[in-house]
Amino acid sequence: MDAVEERTAAYGQHVGPDGQPCRGSCYACLQDWSNSRLHPLLDWRLACDMAELLLGRAFAPLRWSEHAEQAARAFAAGVPHWRDDLLAERPVLRSDRDNRVCVVVHPLEATSEARRGPTLARVVAHAEATQADVRFCSWFNLIRTPGQALIALDSVGDA
Ligand SMILES: [Zn+2]
Repeated sequence: MDAVEERTAAYGQHVGPDGQPCRGSCYACLQDWSNSRLHPLLDWRLACDMAELLLGRAFAPLRWSEHAEQAARAFAAGVPHWRDDLLAERPVLRSDRDNRVCVVVHPLEATSEARRGPTLARVVAHAEATQADVRFCSWFNLIRTPGQALIALDSVGDA
């Protein structure tokens, strides 16, 4: 397990071979030729989280908040009727078409009312106080499947 801990710690500040922050995976971290079919699904942040959960550490859904904010900003830049914002210190997307708020969550974060953590409960309470239609989308899906995320965010009824 020591090797896992060392590798997880090293990925905490991971940048790709080009010196830019690695958005998900690259040949400097998780990708190699043997897993090329899985490249679209590989994410070094999730790998770190899973390794730490296996080591018995507590789940920290806000660990990658800056990454979540960047994902929301990039998504909103490509969609005219959604804009990124912060609500109760968490990244959200707000619709300009109606009173709809999408909370950007960690891909492993529980969003059901009974299981959400205190910071997620707080942001939902803030949004619901304005009668907003609250939805959730993970930063992973905003980056990897933005078209699918947009369809879910714009859909009428439960997303
Ligand atoms: Zn990488």
